[in-house]
Amino acid sequence: MFTLTEDQIAIREMARDFANAEIAPFAVEWDEKKHFPVDTLRAAAALGMGGIYVQDDVGGSGLSRLDAALIFEALATGCPGTAAFLSIHNMATWMIDRFGDEDQRATWVPRLTTMEHIASYCLTEPGAGSDAAALKTKAVRDGDYYVVDGQKQFISGAGASDIYVVMVRTGGEGPKGISTLVIEAGTPGLSFGANEKKMGWNVQPTRAVIFEGVRVPVQNRLGAEGDGFRIAMAGLDGGRLNIGACSLGGAQAALDKTLSYMRERKAFGQRLDAFQALQFRLADMATELEVARTFLWRAAAALDAKTPDATKLCAMAKRFATDAGFNVANEALQLHGGYGYLADYGVEKIVRDLRVHQILEGTNEIMRLIISRALIAQGN
Ligand SMILES: Cc1cc2nc3c(=O)[nH]c(=O)nc-3n(C[C@H](O)[C@H](O)[C@H](O)COP(=O)(O)OP(=O)(O)OC[C@H]3O[C@@H](n4cnc5c(N)ncnc54)[C@H](O)[C@@H]3O)c2cc1C
Repeated sequence: MFTLTEDQIAIREMARDFANAEIAPFAVEWDEKKHFPVDTLRAAAALGMGGIYVQDDVGGSGLSRLDAALIFEALATGCPGTAAFLSIHNMATWMIDRFGDEDQRATWVPRLTTMEHIASYCLTEPGAGSDAAALKTKAVRDGDYYVVDGQKQFISGAGASDIYVVMVRTGGEGPKGISTLVIEAGTPGLSFGANEKKMGWNVQPTRAVIFEGVRVPVQNRLGAEGDGFRIAMAGLDGGRLNIGACSLGGAQAALDKTLSYMRERKAFGQRLDAFQALQFRLADMATELEVARTFLWRAAAALDAKTPDATKLCAMAKRFATDAGFNVANEALQLHGGYGYLADYGVEKIVRDLRVHQILEGTNEIMRLIISRALIAQGN
């Protein structure tokens, strides 16, 4: 449980080498220019990172959730925003692989695992964020088609993606009235809002997705009518681990930068790393990350083993790792003094990128809701 296999160490090193060579040197510039590095994502996919826990008959790597956590942490040392987009693409691709029938898997997944096509996950709406089961985007049956009307909000990759995995209302109110449709870019009536101006995650576009009379073949529905909310939540269990892992990677990079900086920087006639008060802060930062990492691996192992408490453990891991990651990155900025606030040092970008991990894939308040509901149900 606490020792990685040789294969896992090799997978992590492969992702770390890729991050060092292909992502880290460019991350600050991509952030500044709001560049979405699609070619780099495709290069990652060529190494098997486009469908990490997708089955191999459709081009996936067939790896475990724990392997995925190792990969996303390693990639995020280069750029948390880039790694996090890859995580969303992996989540949406896995949903088609896991809940699609053979035709659907053969139609969409091979081009997603190579990232010739890119996927977005569309759950949030202007009036339904945390309360996702209140979503209103309507899909009305018309023969062999659904006619979709409504709007999704804050969709990562929107406008650049080729495939949209969209949760829609096909039935009555609440979670049981929700279904999942795969909607292809270019379908008439599908359009996008402006690219949102954001605090972080500038390496990926975030846009509204607008549906006006979009005709979607019934054969594009994943699972049965009414299965959509369950499918959406199943995707998020793994998505939350991946986002937590991205926080750990970003924070680890910030800590590593801080150690180098404190070795060089002098104040009051000595190196910063000679002040015991600061040494103790480094110790706390490293401890927080190690605790979060160890627990995240435990949650990943539970999801791999499909244990009954996996959803609760994934929510705990997401909450803890994203809070720890943000706090450590923010401490790293403080320990850089004024230089931490400058873009060239790369630390302020990490802080900005990690902040949103406490908000999306379910806010950390919603993680507490999931955990406390599970505890109370257990108590009853
Ligand atoms: C950059 C970015 C990218 C995103 N990408 C995607 C994407 O690709 N796909 C997608 O579907 N969504 C995406 N989201 C949306 C994200 O998942 C939502 O923003 C998030 O779920 C919160 O919803 P909301 O913004 O509507 O906040 P609200 O639900 O309005 O919440 C506001 C505040 O109230 C709190 N709150 C709400 N209900 C409760 C409660 N019952 N108990 C306690 N506190 C509560 C929340 O925690 C929060 O602090 C993205 C968001 C951002 C910012």
